[in-house]
Amino acid sequence: MIATDLRDRLLAILGPAGLVEDADTIAPRLRDHRGRYVGRTPFAIRPATVDELAGCMAILHEAGIAMVPQGGNTGLVGGATPDESGAQVLILTDRLRAVREVDPAGDTITVEAGCTLAEVQAAAEAADRLYPVSLASEGSCTIGGTLSTNAGGVHVLRWGNTREQVLGLEVVLPDGRIWNGLRALRKDNTGYDLKQLFIGAEGTLGIITAAVLKLQPRPRGRAAAFSAVPDVEAAVALLQRLRAAAGEALTAFELMPEIGLGFVLKHMPGRQRPLADASPWYVLAEIASQGTDQADVMEAALADAVEAGLVRDATIATSEAQAKALWALREDMSDAQRPEGASLKHDVSVPVPRIAAFVAEATAAVLARDPGVRICCFGHVGDGNLHFNLSQPLGAAAADFMARTAEFARLVHDIVHAHHGSISAEHGIGRLKVAEIAHYQDQVELDLKRRIKTALDPRGLMNPGKVVGP
Ligand SMILES: Cc1cc2nc3c(=O)[nH]c(=O)nc-3n(C[C@H](O)[C@H](O)[C@H](O)COP(=O)(O)OP(=O)(O)OC[C@H]3O[C@@H](n4cnc5c(N)ncnc54)[C@H](O)[C@@H]3O)c2cc1C
Repeated sequence: MIATDLRDRLLAILGPAGLVEDADTIAPRLRDHRGRYVGRTPFAIRPATVDELAGCMAILHEAGIAMVPQGGNTGLVGGATPDESGAQVLILTDRLRAVREVDPAGDTITVEAGCTLAEVQAAAEAADRLYPVSLASEGSCTIGGTLSTNAGGVHVLRWGNTREQVLGLEVVLPDGRIWNGLRALRKDNTGYDLKQLFIGAEGTLGIITAAVLKLQPRPRGRAAAFSAVPDVEAAVALLQRLRAAAGEALTAFELMPEIGLGFVLKHMPGRQRPLADASPWYVLAEIASQGTDQADVMEAALADAVEAGLVRDATIATSEAQAKALWALREDMSDAQRPEGASLKHDVSVPVPRIAAFVAEATAAVLARDPGVRICCFGHVGDGNLHFNLSQPLGAAAADFMARTAEFARLVHDIVHAHHGSISAEHGIGRLKVAEIAHYQDQVELDLKRRIKTALDPRGLMNPGKVVGP
């Protein structure tokens, strides 16, 4: 229960538009994207300026009230949902939405945390530049969310994770102090790189309010190709060939299984099978560069791969519309699993040379445990990142399958661990994987993370219960 005078002090800072108390308005914000968690909050605050946010956080900190930041609420590990106590205040960043500066000469953009990723991409494009992070959720996820989860996406192969795009940050600390680290420097060797602490911290150390991001030259053209491959080994071999042929211009390399393509064709209207015959696996690859020969490079590399038996059939998009249609098949893959019932998701990574062995071992282990499970394994193979998702057996009860979450997670994660991989490649830890990461992470590493948390948030008020356990 939050005292009325405290609410009134917040209201005085925020004005009526900044304090959300209507239950129906808040409700969608209290449920995480996957519907695994439903939290409660006394009210949500929506500051319109950094100073408003800082003022509110100082008040909440002084009163010992926990704060949960939320951007687009597209996170997949329950990180942006308050707990069920009703005591944690939800902080929405959607009014911190200015593009503060676009600097084509310096190849940077300075944006506030509540801008959607798509808005930042569009602002970069208007200046004839590229902000290269790209996710299927880009229309709704925010820059603050992508920074706080160090989001990956389909272009990591070429441009790296979100962490690699950041030059400077502005952050409100748990006690309301503002750290202005909005530097646009390519070189700044002045000791600990503080911004890196907040990137990927999932809101547990402070609230990111703005960032200086790097921009890239916009590729003048791209060639997207959809190839049928016989197995995962062939997909990994194709990756090496395309890298050798295209070098840095290989911007994406995504693996998809026939079962996943089948889900998309069945549930997503307007989608079409790109190749005549079905194949166990497919690769969607893209070459993008300043030159004009992307399609030629792609065609020659694929012709070689066909000859070597790595590719059975392939199609290269000859128009932007065709490229978009191919990408839609990949982007729809997560959503297309929903109508198939309960799905247990494992966002994992292993070193690229171990991908095929991991998929074979994990598939055998899951099917040995339950032959009815439908494995939908897809993802960013160029980065060693797979979404090893398990759809419930046909006819099974969804709740019964969900009840086996921990059992299958341990089964899959043990194999990931044996291959020196990560149990969270790009989605983060949130609330979902706090216990799991404590099981696998090196004790020294875990201890250091807890000490960092205590140093920056000694009262434990920033997004408690997420990322690091007690
Ligand atoms: C269809 C779909 C596809 C996706 N594809 C990908 C993908 O390819 N790669 C990938 O990495 N992720 C992917 N995601 C996951 C998700 O979109 C990303 O994690 C995204 O970065 C979350 O952004 P958000 O604004 O929605 O953050 P939210 O969900 O609102 O929050 C995520 C976390 O960040 C914290 N947070 C949010 N804003 C701030 C802030 N300003 N300061 C401090 N902490 C903050 C929250 O407390 C929470 O812990 C996908 C999700 C969906 C639904």
